[in-house]
Amino acid sequence: MSDEANPFESLQEQIDDAAAFLDVPGDVVTRLKSPERVLEATLTVEMDDGRLEGFQAFRSQFNGDRGPYKGGIRYHPNVSRDEVKALSGWMVYKCAVVDIPYGGGKGGIVIDPREYSESELERVTRAFAKELRPFIGPDRDIPAPDVNTGQREMNWIKDTYEKLENTTAPGVITGKSLDNGGSEGRVEATGRSVMLAAREAFAYLDRDLSGATVAVQGYGNAGSVAAKLLEDQGASVVAVSDSSGAVFHPEGLDARAVKEFKRETGAVTGYADAEEELSNEELLTMDVDLLVPAALENAIDAEIASHLEADVVVEAANGPITPEADDILASKDVMVVPDILANAGGVTVSYFEWVQNRQRFAWTEARVNDELERVIVDAFDRLVDAFEEKELPNFRTAAYVVAIQRVADAFGGAGSWP
Ligand code: NAD
Repeated sequence: MSDEANPFESLQEQIDDAAAFLDVPGDVVTRLKSPERVLEATLTVEMDDGRLEGFQAFRSQFNGDRGPYKGGIRYHPNVSRDEVKALSGWMVYKCAVVDIPYGGGKGGIVIDPREYSESELERVTRAFAKELRPFIGPDRDIPAPDVNTGQREMNWIKDTYEKLENTTAPGVITGKSLDNGGSEGRVEATGRSVMLAAREAFAYLDRDLSGATVAVQGYGNAGSVAAKLLEDQGASVVAVSDSSGAVFHPEGLDARAVKEFKRETGAVTGYADAEEELSNEELLTMDVDLLVPAALENAIDAEIASHLEADVVVEAANGPITPEADDILASKDVMVVPDILANAGGVTVSYFEWVQNRQRFAWTEARVNDELERVIVDAFDRLVDAFEEKELPNFRTAAYVVAIQRVADAFGGAGSWP
């Protein structure tokens, strides 16, 4: 994975590229390029052996013009202030492109969770929740899971917040387990929107998703669910990878079986029904109809882009293509469905979870999936309208044009104060 691109600079470049097609005043564009505030904390936590250890943690609240800040919390050794700022900005435009009433935020802790016990992780998470408490709330800022966090961490954060506030407030966080106020369909929501975005993109190109070959980089929550649902649409998932490497079968792998194998062994490599094992770079440059990057940012840099052979890329990960690589893919006529639309299923069902928490009324999984499909298909159609009407260079710019206009309208409509 390349480390040349600073994700925050990538975000700012994407906003500038799109703003050039809009009639939004320059000082409003400047406002839309940087976070409103960033919390940086040091969590000092007792380890199982009695030692104290410090962890750096961040929460960026990028923009709240359209509603409360919303976005995940990531546990990863490479978490940095700039990464969190970029991810929080992408959340603003993601929520705007699918037209849900949220702003954007993101948080992270610099930690490799594999090196800590469950009780240590619980103390680290609760220490972060304590620092976050004055900044978050069901009407203020609503965190969610991201890389290396899930229902367990969300339940801990909800519990810590509720105990400190002496209240019940399930809407303070989303991505919780069902018995803690989570929503049906949330776990699969990101992968489902990736599948829906791919389905709509293939229909737009007048191509059949059924029978299309697919490679998926990153076989965690987003990637493995996308692979499974793409297979259900008749696509052939020929290669998948994780940080251990990639597995390949020209006739298609069985997405569910590979997931089960990874659950048991911790890796996709070693899966017995694969024909061959490949490197991640080989997977990214395979000649497939559809490539789904579903690991981390900057996976596709200029070098990989120049060798990339897929016809369509649907971004499950946030920021997986560097701006330079994006230009190369555009020049090769590769259709890229941008992250802020393709992986918006996660935040959309998080929004449904929050609505259900506020209503104190749980929806069925069928209702969640139907509403999600409507949101993603409408957003895709709106993006196509902008792409065609304004003759925009690519779908990413179209997504930002739609999203920036919505945020600028919210800001302009309310006026600035003080
Ligand atoms: P996850 O931790 O469940 O999975 C990440 C996967 O990527 C793992 O299988 C890991 O082994 C793999 N990986 C890491 N480095 C890799 C590398 N160099 N090459 C290949 N594989 C590698 O995380 P996730 O929740 O699936 O998130 C993946 C991406 O999707 C992130 O960019 C995240 O921000 C984005 N995303 C996730 C959600 C969600 O709801 N989970 C929502 C929106 C966006």
